[in-house]
Amino acid sequence: MAIFAHPDDVDFGCSGTIASWTAEGTHVTYCVLTSGQKGTHDPKMTAAKMAATREREQRAAGEAVGVKGFVFLGHQDGELEATMKLRGEVCRVIREHRPDLVFTNDPWGHYQIHPDHRVAGWAALDGIIAARDHLFFPEQLKGGKLRKHRVGHVLLFGSRDPNAWFDISGTIDKKIDALSAHVSQVGGRRGFAGRMRWWAKNTGSAWDLGAAEAFRYIELG
Ligand SMILES: [Zn+2]
Repeated sequence: MAIFAHPDDVDFGCSGTIASWTAEGTHVTYCVLTSGQKGTHDPKMTAAKMAATREREQRAAGEAVGVKGFVFLGHQDGELEATMKLRGEVCRVIREHRPDLVFTNDPWGHYQIHPDHRVAGWAALDGIIAARDHLFFPEQLKGGKLRKHRVGHVLLFGSRDPNAWFDISGTIDKKIDALSAHVSQVGGRRGFAGRMRWWAKNTGSAWDLGAAEAFRYIELG
C-alpha cells in the first residue's frame, strides 16, 4: 500500500519500484489523502472539478504501473492536519486492506516545506502503529468485520536520508507513463521525461544503477 498526500506524490516517489513489484504479482493499493484540489493556476477552475480530474488522473497513473486498488479519502489539498480523526481513517484503511508494506512521504525530511507531505507521513506512520493493537480505535473492530493488523515494513520516499535503493531501469518507462497521466500537473512541461530519467539516473549513480528510486527503510517488528 502507498499512503500519500496528493495525486502524483506516489508517481514521483516510488512508481518505478511499484511497477516492478506488480509485474511479479504484488497487489498494491493507493490511499490518497487529499484530492489535490488546489493544484491549478486556472482562475476559473473549481476545487470540486480539480478533485475529480486529479482522482481520475491518479487512477490512470496507478493502472499504468499495475495498481489494482484505490482509496480516496478526499481531504482538502493544503489543509491536511495531523488529527486523531485522520489517524483513525488511515488506521481503518490499513485494517481493511492489510498491507505487508507501506510506502509514504518521509515526514522527517528536513527542508520539507509542504505541510501536507509532512502530515501524510505522520498520518501513515501513526495509523500503522494504531492498526496493530486492539485498544486503538476499538470501535472499528466491533462486530468482527475488521481485525487489528501489523505492517512489517515501511519505505519513506522523498527522504533526505535514504538507506535503500531499488533498481528501476526496467520500469523507468512505466514510471514516466504514470507521471504523464497527471496531465493537469505535468502536461506541456517541456523536457519533463528527460528530467525524470536524469533524476532516476542520478539517484542510482552511487550504486552503479542505470535508474533508481531511493527510500528510508524502516523494519517494524
Ligand atoms: Zn505532493
